[in-house]
Parts: sequence; structure tokens; C-alpha cells
Amino acid sequence: PSVAEAQEAEQAEKEGHAHVLFDDFVQASTCRATLRAFNLLCEHLQLTHTHTQPHTHSPTLQLFYHTLKERLSYWKANALWAKLDKRAAHHEYGKGRVCANTTCVIIGAGPCGLRTAVELGFLGARVVLLEKRDAFSRNNVLHLWPFTIHDLRGLGAKKLYGKFCGGAIDHISIRQLQLVLLKVALLLGVEVHVNVEFKGLVEPPENQEKQKLGWRVEVKPKSHPVNQLQCDVVIGADGRRNTLPGFRRKEFRGKLAIAITANFMNRNTTAEAKVEEISGVAFIFNQRFFQELRDATGIDLENIVYYKDDTHYFVMTAKKQSLLEKGVILRDYADTEMLLSRGNVDQNALLAYAREAADFSTNHQLPSLDYAMNHYGQPDVALFDFTCMYASENAALVRKRHGHQLLVTLVGDSLLEPFWPMGTGIARGFLAALDSAWMVRSWAQGLAPLEILAERESLYRLLPQTTPENVNKNFGHYTVDPATRYPNINPHLITPAQVVHLIDTGECG
Ligand code: FAD
Repeated sequence: PSVAEAQEAEQAEKEGHAHVLFDDFVQASTCRATLRAFNLLCEHLQLTHTHTQPHTHSPTLQLFYHTLKERLSYWKANALWAKLDKRAAHHEYGKGRVCANTTCVIIGAGPCGLRTAVELGFLGARVVLLEKRDAFSRNNVLHLWPFTIHDLRGLGAKKLYGKFCGGAIDHISIRQLQLVLLKVALLLGVEVHVNVEFKGLVEPPENQEKQKLGWRVEVKPKSHPVNQLQCDVVIGADGRRNTLPGFRRKEFRGKLAIAITANFMNRNTTAEAKVEEISGVAFIFNQRFFQELRDATGIDLENIVYYKDDTHYFVMTAKKQSLLEKGVILRDYADTEMLLSRGNVDQNALLAYAREAADFSTNHQLPSLDYAMNHYGQPDVALFDFTCMYASENAALVRKRHGHQLLVTLVGDSLLEPFWPMGTGIARGFLAALDSAWMVRSWAQGLAPLEILAERESLYRLLPQTTPENVNKNFGHYTVDPATRYPNINPHLITPAQVVHLIDTGECG
């Protein structure tokens, strides 16, 4: 072959290999495999991330996605680029430059941390996402409101996970959702660090004469370069047990509410396909069913939800008396922590209880109720206490020290804990993720901190009241701008004077 032919062949082989690597990335079914496939793809395309440059804002960061796109011309990838390009064209993103000089650290790669990362990626921020684990292992299934399905489709979810919300399906397992969002985040240039745990905020040094050092985060391991990174925004998305200081929790103590989740293997047989799902909201009012269940089995529930997903997933709220009578809870204690402590729960009785409830509520139509395994290799059943639900008192605050400001905010379960059987977690989580990104946009544009905080708190007041019915129905118009999502917002509900306490200058009084 001529030199030209040989070069052409080499080029074709290179491209072919890039396509294989891209397919591997799309098909990767674990967190680790996704990161590995992405690194291989980047290496092959000679794309570099900024991991190793903790002190600098990389001017090329917002170009990451565009360079990747240019270097990977492949029809399968093109379908995904078309989706992402459409989203990236929202004028609010200012061609991905609005937040170009803003470094954001996000704590936690749960669905809400990831969704926030994606949005900040579109805004062109440098986004550093920290996750203390390196596995996405939750089989449990999340209910999706129509707007979240639309939102995820717009991010290419269907291209990254073919089974995404086909037909009337309106749910997804937590791990699949994390995988989809992780892939989008990576493509947009988000830096993802797994096995890195956030430990605390580090104030800028007092003596600013020699170096202009700003706010930092302290992470474990201590040797990790993220410890040196200077940031403008820190976002707490680390779930229920929020670790960011400065956010007071409001607790809502209701009547005792014990939730059980259970996952059974889905072998995708025709018999399994025929079994009808149970949507919680409709079922709560079906008192006859619960009476029959009680009479037939001694199981006493307040509600039950069944979704057919990667697993057959059930979540139910069980009454204490029936758990005691069926031997699931051994001894009765007034204190719920003691009541549900490991030593007071008979695991085998719990497995039997959840299986019996699942069997009865699906009319004995699921052919074999074999438990799926959880992260620890155990049958995937768990008890959770929802007696005490919490919400953060405020959504954001600003810390000022030695001439440096830091915007700190919460999203997802850290901000507002969802009641699982009602399936509000992801919808409200995504709304707050978008609202937070909107706030970061204002921050990057240099708006006054008090104005920014007042607007954020005004929006946060709406969040617990949002329902699928009262958010804007025109999902196609949704953007990072809250006015496109909430029909009757008053961004001035809370005034700047009411949020003065949310600016922490480190001085008493
Ligand atoms: P999460 O999904 O909780 O993610 C938080 C992430 O932060 C995790 O990946 C965690 O490893 C990481 N992290 C925590 N601390 C640190 C740190 N210091 N540094 C770095 N990373 C950190 N909802 C339902 O509707 N139905 C269910 O059945 C259901 N089951 C659940 C089961 C479990 C075990 C858990 C934990 C949650 C469950 N949820 C369920 C809640 C649901 O997962 C959340 O509402 C949803 O995932 C959005 O949460 P998030 O992204 O805010 O936080």
C-alpha cells in the first residue's frame, strides 16, 4: 500500500478504536467501569482534564465538551451530542461562559449532586465533584415526575440507558440514575474524584500579603490534590447526614413511621411482565386492600408501592404492632432508634414479612420472589425510620474571611428530606439543583450577596409545596431560570434585610 493508504488505514483504525471506547463508556454499568472507560477514551483522544492543576482556572475547561465532540465523530455519539448541544444552547448559559471563572466543589455523587454538577457544567464553571465511595449500589427505585423524565431525556438519558422510562414507566433505580448523570457530567468536563471524602472547609489564611489564597476544602486522603484547590462555591449534596456546617435543621416529628424497602430479582419473564405496578398515591386510599392484607396475613401497612425496574422494588410503611406480632421487631421500645436497632430486628422475620406483603399485594402473580442482593451480598431488604423528617432552615449562606467570599449551599436530601413512599426526592432534588445553579450564575455575575441569598431563600420556601400539578406544565421551556419552572414565583418574597444573618463574617453579634 502507498504511504497515503497506510496513513488512511491507520486513521481508520484509530477512529474505530475510539468508537469501541465510546461504546464501552456508554455501556459501562458501574461507577468504576464508567470512570475507567472515560479515562481510556480521553487518553485515546488526547484530551486532558485539569485534575493536576489545583491553583489555576483552566481556560480550556469549557472547551472540554466541544473538543471531545470534534475528536469523536461517530453516529452513536452524534445522537448524544445533538441532545447536549440543544441544552447547551439555552441562552442562560451564555455559550458556556457565564461561570467561566467560578470553581465549584460539590460534595456527593448522588443523583442531586450529579444533576447540580451537570447544570454548572453547562454554565461553564469548573466543577469538582467529590464522592467518598466508588460504587453506586442502591437497587432502590425512585419515582420520577413528568418534568424529571423530560429533563433527563433532554440530557440524553435514553442514549445512555436504552431502557430509560419506556412507555408508561416513570421510575428508575438510584444506581442507574447515578450512572446516567455521571456519564453526562463527565462529558461536560466535570472532574469526578471517587474515594475522596469531604471533611471540612478551610478558611483563607489571615496573612494575605504574600499569596492571595482563598477558601479551600479539606478532604481525606490528606495527600489528595483537591486539598490545595481554591474554590468560590461549595455545594453540599451528601445526602441525609449533611456534613457542611452552618445549616440548622428543622425537624418534623410525626407519628411513628417505619418504612421497609425490598428488592426481588427481576428475570424479565412474560409472567413477571404481566404483573401490575402499584403506585403509592392511589393505593393509600385503598382501605379495603389493607384490611384484606391484615386479615389474611397479619401484616398491617399504611401504604405500599411496587415498581418493576431492574428489580421488583417494594416500599411500604408498616405498623409497629404488626412488626412485633410477626416477630420482626423483638422488643417494644418508645425510642425509635432502639426499636429499630440491629439487635432488635430479626432479619429472617423481616425477609419473610416483606416477601409476604409483596406476594399478597401483587396477587401472588410474581412467580418467584427471590431477593436481589445488596452491596454487602445480603438479601436486599431494609428498615428505615421516617418518624422524624428534617429540612434545612435555609438553603444557602455566604462566608467572608480575609477578603475572600465563599458561597455555600445545600441540595437534595441534605436540603429537604423526602418521604420515599411519596416519591418526592428526585423531583424536588432536581428543582433545588437547578435553583442552586441559578444562584451560582448570579454569584459569578457579581450580583450582591444579600440579593442572591434573598432570592434563593424565596425560592426555597416554594420547594416543600411543589407537586407534579403545580409546577409549570410546559417542560420544554424549562431552563436553569426558576421563572420557567414555577408558575407563580415571587423572587422577592424574602427581602435582603431578612437574610443578613446568612452572611457569616466570623465576627460575633
Ligand atoms: P444521596 O443519593 O444520598 O447521595 C449522597 C452521596 O454523597 C452518596 O453517594 C454518598 O456516598 C456521598 N457522601 C456522603 N458523605 C460524603 C462526604 N463527606 N464526602 C464525599 N461524599 C459523601 N428514596 C426513595 O424515594 N426511595 C427509596 O427506596 C430510597 N432508598 C434509599 C436507600 C438508601 C440506602 C439511601 C441512602 C437513600 C434512599 N433514598 C430513597 C433516598 C434517595 O436516594 C435520595 O432522595 C436521592 O438519591 C437524592 O439524594 P441526594 O443526591 O441528595 O443524596
